Amino acid sequence: AKEEGRGSYRLFEPQMGAQVRDRRLLEHDLRLALARDQLALVYQPQVDIETAEVTGFEVLLRWTHPERGAVPPAKFIPIAEETGLIMQLGEWVMRSACKEAASWSNPLSVAVNVSAVQLHATHFVDFVRDVLRTTGLAPARLEIEITETAMIRNINRAISNLRQVKALGVKVAMDDFGTGYSSLSNLRAFPFDRIKVDQSFIRAVHDNDQSAAIVRAVLGLGKGLNLPILAEGVERPEELEFLRNEICHSAQGYWFGRPQHIGVYADVISGRRRT
Ligand code: C2E
Ligand code: CA
Ligand code: CA
Ligand code: CA
Repeated sequence: AKEEGRGSYRLFEPQMGAQVRDRRLLEHDLRLALARDQLALVYQPQVDIETAEVTGFEVLLRWTHPERGAVPPAKFIPIAEETGLIMQLGEWVMRSACKEAASWSNPLSVAVNVSAVQLHATHFVDFVRDVLRTTGLAPARLEIEITETAMIRNINRAISNLRQVKALGVKVAMDDFGTGYSSLSNLRAFPFDRIKVDQSFIRAVHDNDQSAAIVRAVLGLGKGLNLPILAEGVERPEELEFLRNEICHSAQGYWFGRPQHIGVYADVISGRRRT
């Protein structure tokens, strides 16, 4: 059995080695990506369900690797977080997004994903203050999106930083609600302005009794806590119809618009068109 074990270990070794090598290569390339102009931001509209108006955009990072093509954030963000590169990337994202939003004649909001690593940094609040000052963006137009898992490391520093950022006038959203740990206690401990329900609960909500029950419960929770709910990943009119009937405040998803280069939404940011 021992021999067999060693044999199967050897069998998998080359594959594991290749994975580690591939990760190192990606990490190396990611370090150069910013300087080599391979990173870009895309913007996805967030819509008020009652008025059908775009109220703002979420900013999402894109990496086009010269040989691999598009590398998904789900692949490179964790590498960036483990290596600390996320500090540099995250700061570039926030500064670029705020600069972009400050140039819009339509004063829509801009939602930026903030990693745990950034949130726990001692200079996080100073950084956000500096970005607002240098870009001239009204603080209330900036929203930072935090995932539940992002908050559990040094909870006191995270809460303190969030409170200070809120004191600047910045909004804070809980991202991916329902997928992490201890969502309910986090709701009480952190000063959120709204909740984004994870797309896994919205998928076919009109057709799935369990999803429907969960989404209704989250909407009730939002009502009780006086927190607006945004439904993520709305792809179909039936899902939107369900959300409208259940009085969900806002939504985001392919049904309204994909994450795109901001130029695609030129008429929205200039205020010439509603959706
Ligand atoms: P997220 O913050 O939950 O972002 C929403 C993800 O859902 C995005 O994936 C978006 O493209 C996708 N999405 C939006 N609408 C729909 C829909 O109707 N259907 C489906 N199937 N998907 C939809 P993306 O861009 O691949 O980003 C994945 C994750 O990577 C994000 O999840 C976020 O956690 C992270 N991420 C992306 N950009 C940044 C960034 O600048 N900083 C940090 N820290 N994380 C980022
Ligand atoms: Ca997000
Ligand atoms: Ca999300
Ligand atoms: Ca997510």
